[in-house]
Amino acid sequence: MPLTFKDVRRLFQVPTKGRVRLRDYDPGWAADKELQELTKDELKARAKEFLAHTVTDLADAQERLYASDTHSVLIVLQASDAAGKDGTIKHVMTGVNPQGCQVFAFKKPSSEELDHNFLWRYMRALPERGRIGIFNRSYYEDVLVVRVHPELVNLPSGKKGRKEFWEDRYDDINQFERHLTRNGTLVLKFFLNVSKKEQGKRFMERLENPEKFWKFSFGDLDERKHWDEYQDAFENMIQHTSTEWAPWWVVPADHKYVTRALVAGIITRAIDDLGVAFPEVSEEKRQRFGAAKADLLADGVKPKGKKKKKKDAEVATEEEER
Ligand code: ATP
Ligand code: MG
Repeated sequence: MPLTFKDVRRLFQVPTKGRVRLRDYDPGWAADKELQELTKDELKARAKEFLAHTVTDLADAQERLYASDTHSVLIVLQASDAAGKDGTIKHVMTGVNPQGCQVFAFKKPSSEELDHNFLWRYMRALPERGRIGIFNRSYYEDVLVVRVHPELVNLPSGKKGRKEFWEDRYDDINQFERHLTRNGTLVLKFFLNVSKKEQGKRFMERLENPEKFWKFSFGDLDERKHWDEYQDAFENMIQHTSTEWAPWWVVPADHKYVTRALVAGIITRAIDDLGVAFPEVSEEKRQRFGAAKADLLADGVKPKGKKKKKKDAEVATEEEER
């Protein structure tokens, strides 16, 4: 039985109330039983096919978003290392007009950034109306890496590290996203949920496959040692910041193609639900089309429709002649 969007929402959208447990979300999920019985290659082929289809729909939705110029879309991607953020961006955004899309990857903050409030650098990178902005890591790092390593917080000691400190940050983030949604930005947040086992496999591949050597970072191994603390930080963050205006999606990430297909499907559906359409052309403007056409005709430009008809006629004559 094909998976409906209702199923996708039920399985992966985090409720806005109640306790969240990451262990309720299976990183190795691969659709229903039927799909789980497929071999890895078959699953890949199936998801690839779905992705190709959805990516076309997404390109179309993005064009309407750009033309209507009424909303913007902010896509937030958070995950452990090697969960597939980069690959997801690459595959999901294929076919989308580069003019309507921008990607920002947030790394360790500069000293200038650290001298401002923690949301400052992200505010400066928000997508303008009509565009899709992707945050590859985001202000959520400020309740994740910084929570696991509180010495990174650039504030007077005493404040940081306390439970209330993080609760204030969740609250700031929720209000910030509320402000964005009230002002026409759709906020879509994805946590790519990879298992520790799969992350280990991917790191090992980076050490064994010469084409992937460049991806290996010793720092990633150090962070892996804090796996449980990160899982706690993710869980806490998702529980406190899954809101009605900006819910979290916890997407299974042990099968890359499944992740990509789900993310593309969710984004497309969310943009569709905004109801963005090509702008209406006023009657007055349309009436002036006649004069504009006449100008072009006088300039020797042939209308496309007529040219095609002529071609058809030519073909018919040729056939008659034969
Ligand atoms: P990739 O490894 O795929 O190229 P990446 O997102 O892991 O991409 P890196 O340069 O490896 O990029 O890592 C960026 C680092 O910056 C991460 O360890 C992240 O936790 C850290 N970082 C991001 N935002 C903050 C922040 N606000 N405070 C402190 N560290 C941050
Ligand atoms: Mg990295």
